[in-house]
Amino acid sequence: MVKICCIGAGYVGGPTMAVIALKCPEVQVAVVDIAAPRINAWNSDHLPIYEPGLEEVVKECRGKNLFFSTDVEKHVAEADIVFVSVNTPTKTQGLGAGKAADLTYWESAARMIADVSKSDKIVVEKSTVPVKTAEAIEKILTHNRKGINFTILSNPEFLAEGTAIKDLFNPDRVLIGGRETPEGAKAIKALKDVYAHWVPEDRILCTNLWSAELSKLAANAFLAQRISSVNAMSALCEATGADVSQVSHAIGTDSRIGPKFLSSSVGFGGSCFQKDILNLVYICECNGLPEVANYWKQVIRVNDYQKTRFVNRVVASMFNTVSGKKVAILGFAFKKDTGDTRETPAIDVCKGLLGDKARLSIYDPQVTEEQIKKDLSMNKFDWDHPAHLQPTSPNSIVKTVSVVWDAYEATKDAHAVCILTEWEEFRKLDYQKMFDNMQKPAFIFDGRNVVDVDSLRKIGFIVYSIGKPLDS
Ligand code: NAD
Repeated sequence: MVKICCIGAGYVGGPTMAVIALKCPEVQVAVVDIAAPRINAWNSDHLPIYEPGLEEVVKECRGKNLFFSTDVEKHVAEADIVFVSVNTPTKTQGLGAGKAADLTYWESAARMIADVSKSDKIVVEKSTVPVKTAEAIEKILTHNRKGINFTILSNPEFLAEGTAIKDLFNPDRVLIGGRETPEGAKAIKALKDVYAHWVPEDRILCTNLWSAELSKLAANAFLAQRISSVNAMSALCEATGADVSQVSHAIGTDSRIGPKFLSSSVGFGGSCFQKDILNLVYICECNGLPEVANYWKQVIRVNDYQKTRFVNRVVASMFNTVSGKKVAILGFAFKKDTGDTRETPAIDVCKGLLGDKARLSIYDPQVTEEQIKKDLSMNKFDWDHPAHLQPTSPNSIVKTVSVVWDAYEATKDAHAVCILTEWEEFRKLDYQKMFDNMQKPAFIFDGRNVVDVDSLRKIGFIVYSIGKPLDS
């Protein structure tokens, strides 16, 4: 029986391993983590992350061939294949602060693998890492050589939060990179055999290690760049009377461009896009390619600009001040169908409005009050000026932010509504009822193009929707 161990039971490690366990009943899968509360949650009825379809998969396999444990060393020692899916955030201090990937967690996992292993292992980079990381990992793993062979593979994960299970069941491709040596080829075959249980052979791409590592950064950079491109266009639409949805449709019908990922919004978020582009920028700078670095930096700058532009639009529309006014925030997660708030644009928008002394009433179907208040109390790390922190006093958050469990409650007596996440339920709200219970004039600022602008204007709202012609 092949034994797999995954270090890191997060948004990637948990769902990925659950699907491997489901699709490969003869493989034993252990997901391990140093965070005991997370492991306890994986072993309970309340999984630590929300993903449509995840609960069913976990319940099907847990206790049979899928195990969650804090006994990291034991499961690593027993495994044939060790996936490493730990977090790789942006460094906040020292060399490369604000851009480079912080590989502390990876390094400590690699050292532990080297220490506890008693048999040959395939070590798989599942985390997103800078290109050439495998070289460093190899040095760490082979340093204390005890006659054990470690073969490194890069197998970056392309799932998107909110559709993780769907993406894992039916991936566009699985990418496996390895050394072009007999050991590398053998390891690639072993990992291919796992995925071949459900992924068609022509969707399993094999490359050299560096191509696989770089492809993940490149994929996220391209996706984020597309969002910044359409968002840059949305600003021009507002300035000229063009409609960004019509422009997106018109350009998306060109088969060379394609229709996906062309929705304008208040900006991209999530733990990956910004982090991975910053990582790419740093790698370009280290390789003496400042112009290439600047090109990718601009993707993040446009994203920051989109959030600032949104806040400015809200304040300017509301007679240049939101001081003391109640603003309802609908949606806090960085996208629909997830409770993840990492780098969500809602944080910057809310902080911007709080900076103008608004009172906020926030509703998100999947994000807890504790999480929202924690996010709003944290200092924002400024990647462009790593030494500069923007403090927010936790006390002021308590006084000016309330978190409620209903969209109508959030909007009651509010002067304005900001839609920041594209939850399906926001399309179906009774906007007439909402309007009746709001202060007048009642404003809606739609940062996700979810509402029907014309019907809301008929109700009496003053409506701003990203990239759409403005209210006359
Ligand atoms: P996460 O923070 O949700 O999970 C990482 C887990 O690793 C944490 O639970 C942490 O406790 C654990 N961990 C850290 N060091 C450890 C150690 N030494 N031993 C055991 N456990 C340890 O992160 P995530 O969102 O799952 O992302 C993991 C990696 O996958 C990152 O590199 C990320 O860029 C990449 N990725 C994420 C996504 C996504 O949508 N979240 C998609 C593709 C790739």
